[in-house]
Amino acid sequence: MARTRTSLLKKPALFLLAGICITLVTTGVVAIALYQMRLDAMAQARDVANNLAISLEKETERTLDIYQIALRNVLTSLETPSPELPIETRQLLAFNSAGAISDLGVIIATDASGRVVLDSRSMQPSSMDISQRDYFQVQRQSPDVGLYFSKPFMPITKSDYASIAMSRRLAGASGRFEGVVAGTLSMKYFHNLFNGSILGDHGVLTLMRTDGIVLMRRPYKPEDVGRSLAEGSAFPSLVDSDHGSFVHRSSADGTRRLYSFRRIGHYPMVVVVGLGVQDIYAGWRKRAAAIGSVTAVLDIFTIMLCLMFSAQLQRRLAMERQLQKLAWFDTLTGLPNRRQVNRLARRILAEARRHSSHFAVLFIDLDRFKRINDTQGHGIGDQVLSEVAQRLRNCVRDEDAIGRLGGDEFVALLKHCDVHKAAHVSDGILAAMQQPIAVNTGRGVNIALGVSVGIALYPDDGQSVDVLLRNADMAMYRAKSSGRNQMHFYAAEYAHEAREHIELEIALQHALRAGTLQMAYQPKIGAWGTLHGAEALVRWRDESLGIVAPERFVAIAQESGLIAELDTWVLCQACSQLAAWRAEGVNIPSISVNVCSADFKRADYAEFIARTLQDHGLRSSDLILEMTERVMLEASTDDILRSLDAVHALGVTLSIDDFGTGYSSLSHLHCFPVQELKIDKSFVQDIGISSMAESLAQTVMNIGNALKLTIVAEGVETQAQRDFLSRHGCLIYQGYLYSPPLAPRDFAQWAKARVID
Ligand code: C2E
Ligand code: MG
Ligand code: MG
Repeated sequence: MARTRTSLLKKPALFLLAGICITLVTTGVVAIALYQMRLDAMAQARDVANNLAISLEKETERTLDIYQIALRNVLTSLETPSPELPIETRQLLAFNSAGAISDLGVIIATDASGRVVLDSRSMQPSSMDISQRDYFQVQRQSPDVGLYFSKPFMPITKSDYASIAMSRRLAGASGRFEGVVAGTLSMKYFHNLFNGSILGDHGVLTLMRTDGIVLMRRPYKPEDVGRSLAEGSAFPSLVDSDHGSFVHRSSADGTRRLYSFRRIGHYPMVVVVGLGVQDIYAGWRKRAAAIGSVTAVLDIFTIMLCLMFSAQLQRRLAMERQLQKLAWFDTLTGLPNRRQVNRLARRILAEARRHSSHFAVLFIDLDRFKRINDTQGHGIGDQVLSEVAQRLRNCVRDEDAIGRLGGDEFVALLKHCDVHKAAHVSDGILAAMQQPIAVNTGRGVNIALGVSVGIALYPDDGQSVDVLLRNADMAMYRAKSSGRNQMHFYAAEYAHEAREHIELEIALQHALRAGTLQMAYQPKIGAWGTLHGAEALVRWRDESLGIVAPERFVAIAQESGLIAELDTWVLCQACSQLAAWRAEGVNIPSISVNVCSADFKRADYAEFIARTLQDHGLRSSDLILEMTERVMLEASTDDILRSLDAVHALGVTLSIDDFGTGYSSLSHLHCFPVQELKIDKSFVQDIGISSMAESLAQTVMNIGNALKLTIVAEGVETQAQRDFLSRHGCLIYQGYLYSPPLAPRDFAQWAKARVID
């Protein structure tokens, strides 16, 4: 449930959709309700129209009944065969019978020629001739017509309203036509009747004959009376049944109305009530407008709320995504970071385990990236890293992953990958990195780079992500230490070596802190056999590890950052030893101490040297600092150069150790404040064996002499080597030919024995 809610909260569009749905539903419900109200309004109007039609019908029927009875009575009194009755008596009888309708109209009787012989208004009939009236003619021609309603006509007596006549045939004893009896009814009566009804603004009332002749209409227009509606499309429905209702647009005025009609009793007349649809819906319209407006406002409000909420949610999600990106991706390259690499690797591992497949972890480290960063600045370093990331991405398939662990370390996770494929991809990576990287400095600089790749394969090289990453790292380390720009597969012995490495590092740290390291000194002999000086060499004999070669533990100290501490200790030891020997009366002209680039990076290095010399009562000329070519290589960074100059300024001699083994170019030599050059023992030892070594040694000596440097040969073991060196201008020798490195006490004795020279 909570999960559903969380996933819902991640989809702002759903909120908007929900908002729209709610709005649609409420609008739908309101629309249905309004439609129902509209139907109700119509149903109610139908009831009103029906009721009105009924009441008008009843009223009219009642009136017509009275007329008919009166007519029948007059007829009866006139038809009774009583010729002995004088006209006056018959007139009186007719008066009596017509009295019932005296309020509504007149009853007349005619003879067969159409002359009025009886008039309910006057004892003296007017002798008026009505032979042209339609009812007279119909009665005369159709003996069976019975009660006949005439067309409306204007009465002879002056009136605003037309009248109709209800007539019956007056028959003699043998059925002979003897005239008509007719009762006239003024339409004013219906006019008044209709006017009492409430109809609304567009309502109409019509009284008509069943043949469509209009007898009375409201609103009243005299010209409507007598008009025929029989041609209208709604007419058939009016006469087909006794009553009914329908909605119809009037052909007369174009108004849509609800019509309700009723036949008046058995008379050939129909009363029609028409209510304007406009009036029927007027109330509904007002209510609908009010309800509709409120609904619309509510709908807009709901949609706006949803929009606001969804926008807010969208912003929050974007922020969350950004945070997530920061948490899981490297900002510089956009690649997955260490956390994400771990997560991806775990996923790939689970998949590989499920499908019993292989995958490879490639640990990729840029060679000498630190130098680029230090010499070209971080901006360029960043450009290089971005380009490297891009190239790495291009070296793998889409389903594989490339991540940046930090600094110049990258990782590739290759799915479904065996040894051959891993080697192939690594080759591709090495090749891709061989192309120089053009960086944007405004000077069109191209940077050449190399990478070292270590490969670990699942499942052979590890069963967990941590182990695979560690083993790939170890393999990379091996690639790096065996010459860079290479790839190496992980081998089990690396783990052993790495463990040993760590153990050594810890033990060295203890030895250094406990002061259990020792010193040995090896003499440097001048051309005439005189003692030129001594080189201080550190020694480590560990209780459990035994004697550890300096080359080994110095390298470990350099990697672990212990070297500066170690060299500081050695320098102090050497200075104090020199001072001690001199105090003993043993004359040692100078002491050489090995240093490395980490020492020169100390901002206060020159001051430290000066202080140490001073502390032991030594002069600057008593000290020679031996540094390997690597220092010169790294001296392009300002801090090292500054330290070199400062140390030189003190008057301390700087010497290049193991010359010829490193990468520095001879042409660079004159740029550094160096006074001594030590030919590496590998050249010396091959003298007499390899002509190449001899010529190299010779070249080094020539350059040294040309630059006016003191040349020292180390590792001199034989007289032949010494002679060769001396022939080519090297006048200082160090090696087993004279003495191995000696413990301080032994060295003092050796030196004393030598003094005789
Ligand atoms: P290095 O400075 O070139 O020291 C000379 C090395 O050659 C020493 O090895 C020495 O014992 C050895 N050697 C001397 N004469 C001969 C010879 O005739 N034949 C042969 N085969 N070897 C000879 P060691 O003492 O093992 O030192 C190895 C390296 O360790 C040194 O090379 C130096 O680079 C480094 N090292 C030693 N002590 C220190 C130190 O206190 N600080 C630093 N930074 N490095 C040191
Ligand atoms: Mg040395
Ligand atoms: Mg050396």
